[in-house]
Amino acid sequence: MTPNPRPRLAPHLAGLGTTIFAEMSALATATGSINLGQGFPDTDGPRVVAEAAARAVLEGRGNQYPPGVGIPELRQAIAAHQQAHYGIALDPGTQVLVTAGATEAIAAAVLALVAIGDEVIALEPYYDSYAATIAMARGTRVPVTLRAPDFALDVDALRAAVTARTRVILLNTPHNPTGAVLSRADLATIAEIAVQHDLVVISDEVYEHLTFDGAEHVPIATLPGMADRTVTIGSAGKTFSFTGWKVGWVTGSPELVAAVRTTKQFLTYVSAGPFQYAVAEALALPPAVYTDLRDRLQSQRDLLCAGLADLGFEVYVPRGTYFATTDVRPLGWEDGMDFCRALPQRCGVVAIPHQVFYDNVDVGRPLVRWAFCKQPEVLSDALARLRDGRLAR
Ligand SMILES: *Cc1c(COP(=O)(O)O)cnc(C)c1O
Repeated sequence: MTPNPRPRLAPHLAGLGTTIFAEMSALATATGSINLGQGFPDTDGPRVVAEAAARAVLEGRGNQYPPGVGIPELRQAIAAHQQAHYGIALDPGTQVLVTAGATEAIAAAVLALVAIGDEVIALEPYYDSYAATIAMARGTRVPVTLRAPDFALDVDALRAAVTARTRVILLNTPHNPTGAVLSRADLATIAEIAVQHDLVVISDEVYEHLTFDGAEHVPIATLPGMADRTVTIGSAGKTFSFTGWKVGWVTGSPELVAAVRTTKQFLTYVSAGPFQYAVAEALALPPAVYTDLRDRLQSQRDLLCAGLADLGFEVYVPRGTYFATTDVRPLGWEDGMDFCRALPQRCGVVAIPHQVFYDNVDVGRPLVRWAFCKQPEVLSDALARLRDGRLAR
C-alpha cells in the first residue's frame, strides 16, 4: 500500500485553483457560446500601432533582450503621458519601470512590498490576481466591500480595516468588475489614511482612459502626500486594445520603483521588446486615439445595458472599464454561479459570476459581470440569444 500522496501545491496557495476565466472560456468553446466573460476586445487597436510593432520586429529593434527597466523611448513616453494627462513629473531614468503587462506589475509590487503576515487592504470584489499575489507573498488580504447600487467606497469600513499590521492599500480605479470610478473625495480620504498610517498605495489604473459620461479619472499619486507612497500601474493592453502584447508599467518615487524592480527582474527580467517600441509610438499619438475607443465603448455599454435591462435584469451601469454588472434575482435566480454555469446551454452566452472575486461571497452571490468590449453586432446577437433562450430560472 502506498501512503496517500502528499499534495504538491504549496499549502499557502491552496484555494487559488484555476481562474474562473479558464472555466468559462472552455465552456464558451464547448457550447459555441458568445463569450462575454473574459474582458478582451474583439477588435484590435489602431493599425498604425500594429504597423509600428511589425516594423520594430523587421528592423531588429527589441528582438534581443531589451534593458531590464524597459527601453528608454518607452520610459520617456510613459513619463510624458503622466505629465500631459495628470501633471505628474517623473524622471524616466529612475521613476518608470516597464513590466510584462499590469499583471506582472501587480505581482512585482506586492512581492516587493508585502512581507509574511503583513495586511493588504483591497477593494472587494477584487481583480483575481490580487488575491493570488497576496497569497504568494504570504500576506493577509483584508477586504473592504463595494456594494450595489453604486459600488462607492465605504470610508468608515476602510478606516476600520486598518490595523498595526497594515502595509499596503491595493486600489483599482476605474474598478473591475463593478465599473465604479473612485471620486476625488474618496481618494482624498484614502490618501489621508495612507499618510496617517504610513501605508503604501498600489493603484491599478489600467482603465484610466476608459471612463464614460465625463467621469474623471484621478490618479491618487496626484493627491497631497501621495507622490512618494504610491505605486501607479498602467497598461497598453487596455488603453490601446492590444491585450496580447502585455506591455505594462509602474511609476512612482525612485525608492518604490527600485523596490518593484528588485522582484520584477527575477519574474520575467524583460519582455515584449518590439512591442515596447510600438507602445512608445502609441503613447505619442494624439489623444483622439483613446477618446475614439472610449466613445465606441460607451455606445457598446449603452447597447448592452439597455438590452439587459429590457430582459429583466437589474443593471448597474458602469462609469468606467469594459464591464457591466447585473443582479440576476429579478429573473428568479439566487446564485450567479448557477446562472453562469447554466447560461451557455440555455442561451449560448457566457458571463462571469461576481462571487469568485469576494471573500464575503454572499455579497457577490447574485451578481454577474458582462463584458461589452465586443462589436455591436456581437452584443446584439448575444442579447437576441438571451431573449430567445431559457433565461428565467
Ligand atoms: C486586465 C487587467 C489587468 C491586467 O493587465 P495586463 O496588462 O493585461 O496584464 C490588471 N488589472 C485589472 C483591473 C485588469 O482589468
